[in-house]
Amino acid sequence: MCAKELKNSEPVNFVQAIIDKDKKTNKYGGRVHLRFPPEPNGYLHIGHAKSICLNFGLAEKNNGLCNLRFDDTNPAKEEVEYIESIIYDVHWLGFDWEDRLFYASDYFDRMYQDALTLIKEGNAYVCDLSPEEIREYRGTFTIPGKESPFRNRSIEENLVLFEEMKEGKFADGSRVLRAKIAMNSPNLNMRDPVLYRILKESHHRTGDKWCIYPMYDYAHPLEDYYEGITHSVCTLEFEDHRPLYDWVLEKMHAEEPPQQIEFARLNISDTVMSKRKLRFLVENGHVDGWDDPRLPTISGLRRRGYTPEAIRNFCDRIGVAKTNSVVDIRFLEHCIREDLNLKAPRVMAVLNPLKLIIDNYPEDFEEEMDSENNPEDPDSGTRKVSFSRELFIEREDFHDNPPAKYYRLAPGREVRLKNAYIIKCTDFLRDEKTGEIVEVHCTYDPESKSGRPGAMRRVKSTLHWVSAKSALKAEVRLYENLLLASEQQQEQSEDAGDNELVNKLNPTSKEILLECLIEPNLMNAMPGERFQFMRKGYFCVDPDSKPGSLVFNRIVSLRDNWEKIMGEV
Ligand code: ATP
Ligand code: MG
Repeated sequence: MCAKELKNSEPVNFVQAIIDKDKKTNKYGGRVHLRFPPEPNGYLHIGHAKSICLNFGLAEKNNGLCNLRFDDTNPAKEEVEYIESIIYDVHWLGFDWEDRLFYASDYFDRMYQDALTLIKEGNAYVCDLSPEEIREYRGTFTIPGKESPFRNRSIEENLVLFEEMKEGKFADGSRVLRAKIAMNSPNLNMRDPVLYRILKESHHRTGDKWCIYPMYDYAHPLEDYYEGITHSVCTLEFEDHRPLYDWVLEKMHAEEPPQQIEFARLNISDTVMSKRKLRFLVENGHVDGWDDPRLPTISGLRRRGYTPEAIRNFCDRIGVAKTNSVVDIRFLEHCIREDLNLKAPRVMAVLNPLKLIIDNYPEDFEEEMDSENNPEDPDSGTRKVSFSRELFIEREDFHDNPPAKYYRLAPGREVRLKNAYIIKCTDFLRDEKTGEIVEVHCTYDPESKSGRPGAMRRVKSTLHWVSAKSALKAEVRLYENLLLASEQQQEQSEDAGDNELVNKLNPTSKEILLECLIEPNLMNAMPGERFQFMRKGYFCVDPDSKPGSLVFNRIVSLRDNWEKIMGEV
């Protein structure tokens, strides 16, 4: 599957098909207006990116609009830090809501007025049952619900009680406002759902003005309606709530009410995607904050080195479906490799250095080797990398007793040093105490310099290296999946306990290498810059870097077997 092929064929997703139909019939006067409505109770993750790309993408494609709206109806869980991070992340992904940034809390007055209308028209009542009793009365799929004894209160009494609820006369949980729909509905959401509850909590925007707060199912359709939303796209778990969405708008006498359209949420194999669980991991120190590079949060992916382009491309290519499924994490990695292959300059860095001495190379001599910056990008040019008698190579690139099919350096063997010479291993030294190999000796063939005629002599492998004289020390952080791979790829069950999650944590998900050596051309690299370390993967400069001591995160290794995986399927 290649991005270009998909772009050309432009499959129409089913939401676009609905929009096309609505445009044809001139529903909403041809307007297309969407929204992305996060609840500010955590940082955004890649699942939200899918929703962002879908909503803003559809708006763009249809000459429509897309709002950013904070669904901040739940004061207890929401924080300003989350709002700021969400604003930053949506912009970073490349989308813009212009002047249409809204807060559900800005509509509290209007929602209250609308609740009064519901009461006055006999569509809502104040109920004194306790939360447990409400649950009990609701019944189950097989047992019909029972009507609340408070269901037939007079409109006048309801108005007085609701007013008193608002004035703070009653304790949390002692009364609620409920829709008067049908306790025998086959849809549990329609069995007189709660519209307002008492919650004596300060809200980050409205302060102590309110002690009653609207429930999501009441607030959401109204928010959409107030903003003139036409297509209210949400995830599948809200499918059973749609009749209630429509009921609220019908009772509000909404003209051209928005329509709710559900799509399958993004799940990624062996990846935590619930905000609650992510928050658990962050707050209990299982990861290093919301931007830990192992997390699928947008801030984690950014710190890891993902580009917005790769994330958007991923979201486009996985498509929009009506049934839940799990996307293989390797497809996300494939998308970032594809992007960085074109963009990331190639450099040399040795992660586990082993000293290599070229005995027949003149001491105190240095040569500048021409090195291509990116063979995939003809405009990227070349740079000089200095070569000298003492170098470092990757420890794993030397073997004193090479196993079968090991073609790298070994006693008596020849390899090429990238952009330099062919060398032949003549000897190696061990630390007497530890037995560790500490130094490899070799000779070089002066006629074999890369780019020279005669340099074309073939050897089986090419190694990267850095010069001992000029290499810079750096810290490199390597990551594996945060969760251990499960045998079968299953959806993360939402109710799986936190302990189960902790047991699934991969104890080797983060490895820190402190003694890495990088070529001096990287001296002034800035946080966020991305490189390909030849043969080692794609890396991104971490914000923990200080001048003279760089820290890199490995974004992904180079090995991409996505095409192969697809071939096997
Ligand atoms: P979580 O279930 O992880 O706590 P949420 O659905 O409660 O997330 P919201 O802030 O309510 O998070 O989500 C904002 C929007 O993003 C909603 O429209 C929601 O449907 C969508 N969204 C959330 N998670 C995903 C996902 N995994 N895939 C696609 N869309 C998602
Ligand atoms: Mg939600």
